Amino acid sequence: MSTTINVSVTSPADWKYISEGGSSIVFSYAGPASPYFTGTALRLRKTSTASGQVDLPVLHDTPDEEEPDDPTIVFQRRVTQRLVPEEYLPRLVSANVTEPWLSELHEIHNEHRPQARRGKDGIAVKKAKAVLADDLVGGEGFVVEIKPKWGFLPSSVHLSPRSKLTKTTTCRFCMHAHLKSTDGKDVSLGYCPLDLFSGDKVRVMKAMHNLWDAWIGSSGQVNNLRVFVGGTMLKPTSLVRPQHFGDPTLSDLRDAFTAALLPALLQTPILQKLSNLQQTLDPLDIEGLTALWSEASETAIPPLGQGLAEPTLSDWDAFLDVYHTKHSTMDHDHPDVANLRYYCLAYLLSASFKDCSIMIRVKPGGETSVAVIDLDVKPIDRLHKWALLDAEIVQAYEGIAEPTKCVDRWAM
Ligand SMILES: [Zn+2]
Repeated sequence: MSTTINVSVTSPADWKYISEGGSSIVFSYAGPASPYFTGTALRLRKTSTASGQVDLPVLHDTPDEEEPDDPTIVFQRRVTQRLVPEEYLPRLVSANVTEPWLSELHEIHNEHRPQARRGKDGIAVKKAKAVLADDLVGGEGFVVEIKPKWGFLPSSVHLSPRSKLTKTTTCRFCMHAHLKSTDGKDVSLGYCPLDLFSGDKVRVMKAMHNLWDAWIGSSGQVNNLRVFVGGTMLKPTSLVRPQHFGDPTLSDLRDAFTAALLPALLQTPILQKLSNLQQTLDPLDIEGLTALWSEASETAIPPLGQGLAEPTLSDWDAFLDVYHTKHSTMDHDHPDVANLRYYCLAYLLSASFKDCSIMIRVKPGGETSVAVIDLDVKPIDRLHKWALLDAEIVQAYEGIAEPTKCVDRWAM
């Protein structure tokens, strides 16, 4: 875009709080009709109130630029669009914001945020740029956000004798859900991503039933399923009310909900695309990556990823050039130490696809559309955390009396 849209010409009161994640918060435009803002959502960065810092990887090759466009935009343009068909990605443009405008927005809307979030962080008011995107949750019909998570079982090649059986029997999500539930957290117990990714009608229906049950059972606290009507997140409690004769039961609603989404989930190629990318970009498993890292270290072994520079956009360009030309013929069973950084970047990218959401809009006539969101790049220092978390998850699952037997998505 030649001229950047200035969001501070609107009133902060014309924006409605939608939702937030760990690093960003989203508002949708609800003001007077505007060719620039109607049908858009504003995504802003958050900052922890303690540090005032925004924790984002630096992507830019030119750090002396005034304030670069948000990494979400830059990363989508340069990286994600080379992997995911553009028709499934939301339109993102850079927009200018000002500190007084962001402060006022914060003042007006902070009370609408979940209590637990308010004490921890807030809008990063010192940012000069934000992301203006298609409003995927407002508009006609209803919108379902699904965070599908890990859609494959790892190859056993790089797994330790200790973890091999566990990790090839039970998928990562089901093991992690077990750990979280023993910690007393709300989780989508029973939901297995491999069912959702299977393309098999019966299994996809089972996945949707499990997601619905977890959504109802946790009063909407689990983040694998969210439902929006007219831009507002629906609370399961609004469905659980005293029954009158002839009212649909929760089971009826679950069936109608699943039936409305099933055609889109079975027809869209995007689920298969996502699980293929997750798996292809993670050929070694974190265990194989850790082993390769150790092999490359001459003396004391630093934590996985420590000392690796955060990839720049040029690094990502080069990575994708190799990915598209050589990845399929590389011998991933015997990875070359010379490719260590390549495998680390691949794992980072795989993590984005393991943590994204799909948005399914069901229009009043039943027509559906699907988009993929939250494909931000993760900082490289996560690698070490993921290695530790993986070990913790597997350890907590070892020796469990009746492990869940997850069926890989293409196994049927
Ligand atoms: Zn599973």
